Amino acid sequence: MTQQSYRLGDHGPAVTQIRSHLSMLGLLSDDRAEGLEWDAEFDGTVDAAVRAFQQQRGLIADGVVGTSTWRRLDGARWTLGDRVLRYGTRHMQHGDDVTALQNRLLDLGFDPGRIDGIFGPDTERGLMELQRNLGIPADGLCGPVTFRSLDRLARTVVGGEPQRIREAERLHHRGPGLAGKVIVIDPGHGGRDSGVCANDLREADVVADLASRIEGRLGAVGVTAFLTRGTNPDAPAPTEVERASFANEVDADLVISLHTDGHDSPHAQGVATFYYGSGASEATHSVIGEAFADLVQREIVARTDLHDGRSDAKTWDILQRTRMPAVRIDVGYLTHPGDAARLADPALRDTIAGAVLVALQQLYQPTTDLRPHVVQVPTPVS
Ligand SMILES: [Zn+2]
Repeated sequence: MTQQSYRLGDHGPAVTQIRSHLSMLGLLSDDRAEGLEWDAEFDGTVDAAVRAFQQQRGLIADGVVGTSTWRRLDGARWTLGDRVLRYGTRHMQHGDDVTALQNRLLDLGFDPGRIDGIFGPDTERGLMELQRNLGIPADGLCGPVTFRSLDRLARTVVGGEPQRIREAERLHHRGPGLAGKVIVIDPGHGGRDSGVCANDLREADVVADLASRIEGRLGAVGVTAFLTRGTNPDAPAPTEVERASFANEVDADLVISLHTDGHDSPHAQGVATFYYGSGASEATHSVIGEAFADLVQREIVARTDLHDGRSDAKTWDILQRTRMPAVRIDVGYLTHPGDAARLADPALRDTIAGAVLVALQQLYQPTTDLRPHVVQVPTPVS
């Protein structure tokens, strides 16, 4: 558009374009259908069509095509899937397809920012969060891969919670039962990083010993267990991000991270379990992680006299960057004399390993079904 706005009585190529857009939207009859050239006249029918469009879109229905009405008219030709959407800093894409994407994100529990039909940084952030939850590359690019995943989601599920859906599929993706599963055990710290040191115990050693006890029990029931680190005291400890990447690489079904706690107060004590969740949005919390955290917490508390520190949602890297459910168990406070005495006893570590196994067996019971209400959308009759 070369001038500011177009209204009744104007004419020229821009008016032709306005007519073309309006007729594409079914608001104006298509001149070409009658074998005529596009009319360049902003006449009464165009004025009425523009007012109708403005009314539909919640704009002031004055019949004047100014910047915002033009932008909406121009964007109206796009439906989601027509083109690749991405955030550009110079020219932000706008259109009905962007509005549709923003609405889809919102429906699924992700925050796309304002529903304004403009692909800005908030929409990009919401899209990447969705992609991460769908297990596809989080590139912020709404292209064929994302369209396909969105389609698949639309066919099988009405209502949000993609994280829950993906995990429900994953729960049994190597068949029912515990045998055949791949579980990553992540003893915290290691190498020159001792973790908490108190009451003659080093966190890195306590969790390494516990990890090997869990590993042994898992092997006995047909689970493939991987440890994120060895016990070489000179090897550098992997970072949380490296541990998460390792779990992703081996395509684990579950990650169990092991730590002990420490506190300035010698009174802090007990076992606590953590799963991924931000607390802000239902969609960004791991349902299976939470279920397993509750199970393992309950089993440990029932089998030991460790204080019940409960389970809680956290966004730590090991929980957030893993593509599978992950929990972190803090098995006690080394700074608490009672907890330290308990954890120094190999029999108690063995009991904890046993509790973890029982919790796993419960999680992977063939009958365990954490699926949300899944609604099969009927195939349209052609
Ligand atoms: Zn630790």
